[in-house]
Amino acid sequence: MGSPKSLIGLTREGLKAAFADAGVEPKHLSMRAGQIWNAAYVQGATGFDAITTLAKPLRAEFAERFTLARPEVVTAQMSQDGTRKWLIRFGPGVEVETVFIPDEDRGTLCISSQVGCTLTCRFCHTGTQKLVRNLTAEEIVSQVLVARDDLKEWPRAGRNSDERQITNVVMMGMGEPLYNFENVRDAINVIADGEGLSVSKRRITLSTAGVAPMIERAGEEIGAMLAISLHAPRDDVRDVIVPLNKKYPIKELLAACRAYPGLSNARRITFEYVMLKGVNDSNADARELVKIIGGIPAKINLIPFNAWPGAPYECSDWERIEEFGEIVNRAGYASPIRTPRGRDIMAACGQLKSESVKARASDRIAELRSKEIVRMPH
Ligand code: SAH
Repeated sequence: MGSPKSLIGLTREGLKAAFADAGVEPKHLSMRAGQIWNAAYVQGATGFDAITTLAKPLRAEFAERFTLARPEVVTAQMSQDGTRKWLIRFGPGVEVETVFIPDEDRGTLCISSQVGCTLTCRFCHTGTQKLVRNLTAEEIVSQVLVARDDLKEWPRAGRNSDERQITNVVMMGMGEPLYNFENVRDAINVIADGEGLSVSKRRITLSTAGVAPMIERAGEEIGAMLAISLHAPRDDVRDVIVPLNKKYPIKELLAACRAYPGLSNARRITFEYVMLKGVNDSNADARELVKIIGGIPAKINLIPFNAWPGAPYECSDWERIEEFGEIVNRAGYASPIRTPRGRDIMAACGQLKSESVKARASDRIAELRSKEIVRMPH
């Protein structure tokens, strides 16, 4: 028999298909899917022993075929400001970082969609790490489970709980989510499911560097809040700092934003704007910015640049950021300045990076083998 199949990250249909393969009778498929869904995403079960809604023999049978196990947490760090960062390993050389940012009125979990990144945004640390691979839906959802484990949120974080610490999820960690569309879609649909982890789509934000042709589909099939890493109002500047702009220039990107399904004053797009000294932070830039986004229900999130070893930029001075924000604000757009969090543990925006490098084929085979050993039932 092969290694047990993880049930984490499967859609309900996927769960049912897995159970059908395991010989569960058709008339029981929905019920079993509901039981496992509740156990995994409300109770936080990591195995089948404690799932008392299943008869004992079935628990044993499921344990042979399936797993709800967590990935390995390599390190867990806490910043002076309470921000937490986990380095999570999905296999040899396949590691990502996940960050939890507690605030007075919310707690935001920042999750990754890829190991490394294909984009090479000049100001982003992850951009210096080549893409190793896309994360699976299981691996994306697992980041939420690992964080809930460590924050001791089970099961009181379940449905309708005021007590939960993770209230919001942002897809703003490592990677470009719209280059891993299906897995990101399935994972967000699991995370948002009201019978499970239950983080509503109004509280989930997907951030993209601007993969314009995928934006409409993201609205239709995911329907989370959308954030766009704009960072410059002119193509000549954006071409340099977000090279993806050469493929999908500002005009095309903003046209896709205007057409984003579900866009309204209640569901605005967030434009992220990293403040780079002398690069994109002049008053003229601010005025041009509000001009080009005219007509889009939006807010502008000003992000003080977070440095990393070897970074080619500096953060704009605080007064500059405030004056820039004033201009944007007077034009009628909320322009909050994102407080840098977790800089001391390199957990702030754009600082994430893991040591992972793309493995040779022989290492990939070793990864698969070792997974089998790790998951072999005993
Ligand atoms: N690829 C997606 C998801 C990454 S989100 C995207 O580009 O949107 C990470 C956010 O942090 C993006 O807005 C990114 O532009 C921003 N960022 C990257 N590096 C940064 C840095 N050094 N300082 C501040 N913000 C940064």
